[in-house]
Amino acid sequence: MRVMKFGGTSVQNDEAIRRVISIINNRKAKAVIVVSAFATITNKLVEIINCLKKNNYISVKAHLDYIFTKHLDVASKLGLGSDVDNLLNEKRDEIERLTYALNILGEVSPKSTDTILSFGEILSSKIIYHAFLNEGFKIKYVDARDIIRTDANFTEANVIFDTTNELIINNCKDDFENYQLILTAGFIASDENKSTTTLGRGGSDYSAALIASALDAERLEIWTDVNGIMTCDPRIIPQAKLVKMLSYTEASELAYFGAKVLHPKTIYPAVEKQIPVYVLNTFNPENNGSEIINLHGNKKILKAIAFRRGVSVINIQSNKMLGAYGFLSKVFEIFRLNETSVDLITTSEVSISLTIDDNSKLNKIINDLREFATIILLENQAIICIVGEGIKNTSGISARFFQALSDINISMVSIGASEVNISIALAERDLDKSVRLLHKEFFENYIDEEYFSSI
Ligand code: ASP
Ligand code: MG
Repeated sequence: MRVMKFGGTSVQNDEAIRRVISIINNRKAKAVIVVSAFATITNKLVEIINCLKKNNYISVKAHLDYIFTKHLDVASKLGLGSDVDNLLNEKRDEIERLTYALNILGEVSPKSTDTILSFGEILSSKIIYHAFLNEGFKIKYVDARDIIRTDANFTEANVIFDTTNELIINNCKDDFENYQLILTAGFIASDENKSTTTLGRGGSDYSAALIASALDAERLEIWTDVNGIMTCDPRIIPQAKLVKMLSYTEASELAYFGAKVLHPKTIYPAVEKQIPVYVLNTFNPENNGSEIINLHGNKKILKAIAFRRGVSVINIQSNKMLGAYGFLSKVFEIFRLNETSVDLITTSEVSISLTIDDNSKLNKIINDLREFATIILLENQAIICIVGEGIKNTSGISARFFQALSDINISMVSIGASEVNISIALAERDLDKSVRLLHKEFFENYIDEEYFSSI
């Protein structure tokens, strides 16, 4: 049994949904299918919430029109018939009543936000379920809110693992005796009061991983609209290669550094159970994609270059004398109080350099730090990192890294915190050039075909 998650673009219209059906048909395997909302729909629902906060009900109506016209159209093109139309219209009534009430209140709580957001996945999963039924599949619909249990931290709810595992097993395990497929929605869950919660944007991968873990799936497949994880963003490096095989650690480092293909949290439930994860392309299903496994006996190689723009580097020098204790904890307390997470850090005896990429509280943070430290702030910075298990045990990689960037002014360096990552900060204007230089150095002269391919 495998778990197959299809993202928003993979189910964006009738044509895409037919493609999904044919992928499953060709594989004949037993599977739990986890689907996202149709592409752009979650963003529309977010806009609805914003309009409600501004009492702009006219726009709410317009967005609802768009959403339901789209779903009714897809259902009709899939030939799903009047039962599905009725169901969609019922859902429309439901969300209309809800938004109407919220508009009068002029207030949208996180709890109502999640109820509104859940419509994206509810609509898509119902339509796709009926499309499979129509094609004669033995398929069971499971409401995701009956199997994923979270706390009541609406919009970023935390999964309660024991209960979730139990619910998934109770609601799914034995059904494979009677059904080939189980279909459920990603992203949505419920708390102990049965109120709808969500797992955070992009959370469908996480839902799929939780299900794979609970059911001991033989594999977890994340179907998306790219061939897999690349050595670098192809928008900057058109000749980027596909990475055929990565370790869990490499994949999660890359996820944090903006390789948009995987949600970082996805990795954990799969890691624990040692379930291999595959990133596959719905629009090119023959491609083998990227395989994320527990790589032992890793070769001395790098896998990818990742980067992040819009970073600030903060250099903090202690005003006190050398060796004053408690300085680091004072500094980090300020970041904690300002709810801003720190990405890279390096320290010397009297100063700390660190980066943040959420600049919303930057001024407040700087003012707080100035109470006891001298601050130099560098804005418009970027982070680049190279990732690979090879960094652990290969000499000369850092030398090549810095040699390749010998003409670039680097504002910060971090090596060694993670054994599989070397990171630097630099001015954003030097980013593209530096990424190209590094890709050339590490990925363009020679590539190991066991790990990389050109398509
Ligand atoms: N539909 C949700 C989102 O756009 C969840 C997902 O696609 O993973 O964030
Ligand atoms: Mg997604």
